[in-house]
Order: sequence, then structure tokens, then C-alpha cells
Amino acid sequence: MDRDIRNIVILTGAGISAESGLATFRGPDGLWEGHRVEDVCTPVALARNPALVHRFYDERRAKLGGVKPNPAHEALAALDAAWPGELLLVTQNVDDLHERAGAKRLIHMHGELRSALCAACGKAVSWTASLPPETACTGCGKSRLRPDIVFFGEMPYEMDAIDDAIRRADLFVSIGTSGAVYPAAGFVQTARHVGARTLELNLDPSAGSFYFDESRMGPASVLVPQLVRELLA
Ligand SMILES: [Zn+2]
Repeated sequence: MDRDIRNIVILTGAGISAESGLATFRGPDGLWEGHRVEDVCTPVALARNPALVHRFYDERRAKLGGVKPNPAHEALAALDAAWPGELLLVTQNVDDLHERAGAKRLIHMHGELRSALCAACGKAVSWTASLPPETACTGCGKSRLRPDIVFFGEMPYEMDAIDDAIRRADLFVSIGTSGAVYPAAGFVQTARHVGARTLELNLDPSAGSFYFDESRMGPASVLVPQLVRELLA
């Protein structure tokens, strides 16, 4: 790193968890574990077929028990623990591999598999089991619990906090995500606007590569530990 860096924002996407064995959100066939995203990831789908949507996320949640953080998650957790300046990890992933690796300064902008959200009272609770649609909320007693996942058409979480952090950032890093789809494309543009250095780590060149000062291509499990060594050197 060739300039003084104090504040860092790191965006992570499906590419970082793919190496732990979790299916990327949209596979080459355009499906997520055999389902059209429209059938499992929209408010309309949840209203139309709650049993299918709940079962889909129950399966995804159950799968977390069989995977573990990889060296990319571990390196980011080590950076979080050691970095003296501001640092914010923003993940698009709904798995819990960052926190299981030990990351603390973390925002799940698209929600979490291991959380249930009450559509009636808004209470979110930690959830590790399956979540049948008739489950009653411990806050209000209504049977309106749903997977705490930000569906298409819903507002991602903590956008103000993310925007504030990016506006103070000296370095913005995007890992394992195309960077071309909003809001991620907006993040790198904001970072550029405030003069932050922008770096992309990706398996393949992405459609968003031209937004970044630098693009490094390769597996996250190799590139991320290397970047963390550079930053902590
Ligand atoms: Zn409730």
C-alpha cells in the first residue's frame, strides 16, 4: 500500500464464501440451489408460498453447520482485531462465516440466515433451528416470523452507517463480488468521490472492474491473506 491508510471499508460477496463450499447466490444457471431467485427471495414469494420460502432458508441455515470459515475470512478477522484505525466489514453474504472467524466490526447488509425477523413487531432474534411459518414471535406472540433476509425490493440494512464509513475511508476494498450491481457499484463510486483508494479482489475480471484503481484476480483464500499482510506490515 503506497499511501497513508487509516480508515478501511471492505465489502465482501458470494465469492469469499464459495471457497467454504456455500453456493453462490446466483450460479451459472441463474439459479440459487435449483430455485429461481424470484421464487424464494421476494416479498411476493413469501406471501404466496411461505412453506417453500421458509423451507429454502431452513436448508441454507442447516448447511451452515457443515461449513467453516476459510483463510480469507480468518485473515479479515485478524485485520479487524489488529487494525488501529476505523474498519468496517460490510458483507452481502447471509452466512455467519465472518463472525465465526472472529470478525467484530461487521454489517450484514442483506440480513442473516441465523436470525428470524417478526414481520408484525420488527423484533429480530437469533435463530439456529428450522423456522416453520406458524412459529410464534417471542415479542408479540404473532405467527409472523420470517427469515431475516433482505429480499429483492427491500431496503438493505444500515445503509446510512455504511455510507458514513465509506465517506471517511482511505481505502475501499471489494472482495468476491461483481461490484457492478447496486448498491455495491454505488459504494465504490462514493469511495472514489471522497478520494479513497479502491481495490478489487475477484476470481475473474468483473463488469465493475473499471471503477477500481486496482484489480487483483485470483482466489480470495490467497489474495485476502496477502492483502492483510501488506496492510499490517
Ligand atoms: Zn413480533
